[in-house]
Amino acid sequence: MNVILLGPPGSGKGTQAKRLEERYGIRHLATGDMFRAVTASGSELGLRVKSIMDSGQLVPDDITIEMLAARIGEPDCRGGFILDGFPRTVPQAEALDAMLAQRHLGLNHVILIEVDDAALIDRLSGRFTCARCGASYHERYNRPRFEGVCDVCGSREFIHRLDDRPEAVAARFQVYRRQTEPILPSYRERGILRVVDGMAGIDEVTQQIEMILGPVSPA
Ligand code: AMP
Repeated sequence: MNVILLGPPGSGKGTQAKRLEERYGIRHLATGDMFRAVTASGSELGLRVKSIMDSGQLVPDDITIEMLAARIGEPDCRGGFILDGFPRTVPQAEALDAMLAQRHLGLNHVILIEVDDAALIDRLSGRFTCARCGASYHERYNRPRFEGVCDVCGSREFIHRLDDRPEAVAARFQVYRRQTEPILPSYRERGILRVVDGMAGIDEVTQQIEMILGPVSPA
């Protein structure tokens, strides 16, 4: 099963994708996480990508498409994948169609998580992530079970993303409206776009998505 999770910054794509990866055994592919790994390498490309990300703009399509195409060709993606943060532009959506066609793969579902702008700003402003494994938390809505310790990997180091600062958040919203929303009509016309209410609690959103994806198929 191949799925795209779409939604504005802060809509909970990463949180939901991690849960779906566990439940359905399909690989969570987050281009944002891949780029953060590139920036951590300190290479020339990494520095360039970092300055783009910190400002809330998009990394150029050619770099992004090449990176994603290589990733979905890896063996661990054969059982299916959930795309989180890709595609974000019309050329990326077209490139994805071509990549899938070339591999004789289809897109089963495109799920849009809808959340009000005011709630998104509130979520992003309180968000922090584990410095080691990237697990996402929120100062008010989703704290680690044990104060100061990551639920997933036990690390005690957390970071606030630079692109969650208000200036970058404003840019990311604008990018989403102008560059990402235009990919929706094509999925709607193909009858694979489903919308879930992202204002609901984390568990409830997971349930809505699971209703769409259906039962876990036996191994
Ligand atoms: P995310 O973690 O999905 O919020 O992505 C963080 C940042 O990574 C974005 O604001 C972009 O700068 C970059 N990025 C992630 N995915 C893409 C993409 N599909 N196309 C271009 N830039 C991306």
